[in-house]
Amino acid sequence: MQKEQQTYLKDQLSTLDTNERLKLYKRASAIRKLHQSRSRPQEDEPIRRAKSLDDFVLQLLLQDAEDIGTGPIVGQGDIVWVGPKTCHVRHSKNVVECSIPRTLSVAVGDRVSFGSKGEGHMVVAVMPRSTVLSRPDVDNSHKERVIAANVDMVVVVVSVVAPPLHPRIIDRYMVAIQRGGAKMLLAVNKVDLLDESNREPEMSKLAPYSSVATMIPCSTMDGRGIAELRMLLKGLTCVFVGHSGVGKSSLVNAFDPSLAILTRSISEGYGRGTHTTTSSTLHELSGGTKIIDTPGIRSFGLWDISAADLGWYFPEFADFVSGCKFRDCTHSHEPVCGIKQAMSNGLISHARYDAYMRILTLP
Ligand code: GDP
Ligand code: ZN
Repeated sequence: MQKEQQTYLKDQLSTLDTNERLKLYKRASAIRKLHQSRSRPQEDEPIRRAKSLDDFVLQLLLQDAEDIGTGPIVGQGDIVWVGPKTCHVRHSKNVVECSIPRTLSVAVGDRVSFGSKGEGHMVVAVMPRSTVLSRPDVDNSHKERVIAANVDMVVVVVSVVAPPLHPRIIDRYMVAIQRGGAKMLLAVNKVDLLDESNREPEMSKLAPYSSVATMIPCSTMDGRGIAELRMLLKGLTCVFVGHSGVGKSSLVNAFDPSLAILTRSISEGYGRGTHTTTSSTLHELSGGTKIIDTPGIRSFGLWDISAADLGWYFPEFADFVSGCKFRDCTHSHEPVCGIKQAMSNGLISHARYDAYMRILTLP
């Protein structure tokens, strides 16, 4: 087996779930036993030349790939669009349409290898993901559905004045983003609408976040913060999330005016007008920044989060958990709790603790 092929197969192995992997190892182990019990190996059988159990497993994976009809691996690339049965993979300068085998689930942003199948191509392996944005599956709310993979930065966009600032959305997104492994930036847009009379009341709503998130006040009207945002996102794979009308499209457009098309497609994707079914797309801006635009991302969120874990996604809690009596304290009903203590001492904001409790008691 070629070294390159071996690497692909190992990657594919790492994307299998525990059950599938167990099945594969059982099959491999049975074949290996058979192999060992025969005295004279036949050199023409590749399975018989393998030595360790892992070798047998990789051989089996290769056989399975050949059984579903994929030829040798043709190339590697990033998924830029996903449909029900096919996806588009960017492979150097080209975009290759690939079918998706039933055994694999893929998302925009996934790095995959693909092989030839009949006249066309098929995805054969998904590389391990560095981060994910997920939401509960529509049919089974305990099942994770990955809507974007390998996102470096999620830009949560809020606006001041019009629409007025709704900070609640930030808490939920913060938890979901950290859980998936991406970083978060808070873009406070439309600051041009602030004057002496409304600055203080609007901005004070953001006080609870000033110590837990990087906050960039910006405006696509007067250009404030745009250069800073562009610099912070340079070379990264990003998504923009936030309520409709806060200025997500305008911001992306301000980074790269040559992408006028993106403004339109983002607006369509975010539910205005009749084009609400726009598919997921990955756009590449000049300077190497990639922006993933998918209708599903607006609703990515929390699913099956355990009470014991939730507190760890509130970074400002970390300094105070040592004051909790119980190691699995949920900071709710427990009598001796470092978090509640810190809140009454003014060291953790009431707003953030309320947000924690709201998520904790989600149905
Ligand atoms: P999206 O729904 O989040 O993509 O929001 P849009 O980018 O479509 O913007 C919604 C509206 O807000 C549009 O009418 C924009 O012209 C306006 N807008 C966007 N950014 C700003 C800003 O920085 N200041 C002001 N005053 N208006 C803005
Ligand atoms: Zn506690």
